[in-house]
Amino acid sequence: KMENATLKAELGNAAWKVLHTTMAKFPDKPTEEDSQALKSYLHLFARLYPCGECARHFQKLLAKFPPQVTSRSSAAAWACHVHNQVNIRLKKEEFDCSKIGDFYDCGCADDEPVVKM
Ligand code: FAD
Repeated sequence: KMENATLKAELGNAAWKVLHTTMAKFPDKPTEEDSQALKSYLHLFARLYPCGECARHFQKLLAKFPPQVTSRSSAAAWACHVHNQVNIRLKKEEFDCSKIGDFYDCGCADDEPVVKM
């Protein structure tokens, strides 16, 4: 089957939004379980990402830059950094990670974030 760049880009756009918004909702002070869940989520995300070329590349990025899961801010900064690595590879503009603060808002009410297992 031929590549459809539009669909591939839409998928990427949606996936990054979920990923960054997940980080924005991750606890400031996660439990050991929270941190473990995020680590697993990221490795499974990288393994199961539907675009094969993207998944392979992202798995290498995870190996090179292990997920930072000790706090919301470190997780958000990590995700911003790896997204920038993908941006560089695709010759896209880099995002200023110091501006990530309130950029990703889930629009949901302030309840317990769903990261428990
Ligand atoms: P996107 O990169 O999708 O970004 C969406 C929005 O996020 C931007 O408009 C900006 O507002 C914001 N943003 C940009 N950079 C950052 C950052 N560092 N931190 C936080 N927010 C940011 N495509 C390929 O062709 N080849 C690949 O190998 C490939 N690998 C991918 C791997 C993963 C894990 C994912 C999720 C996507 C991958 N993609 C790949 C898709 C690609 O990254 C883009 O999603 C797609 O090209 C659409 O780009 P975009 O210009 O809409 O912006």
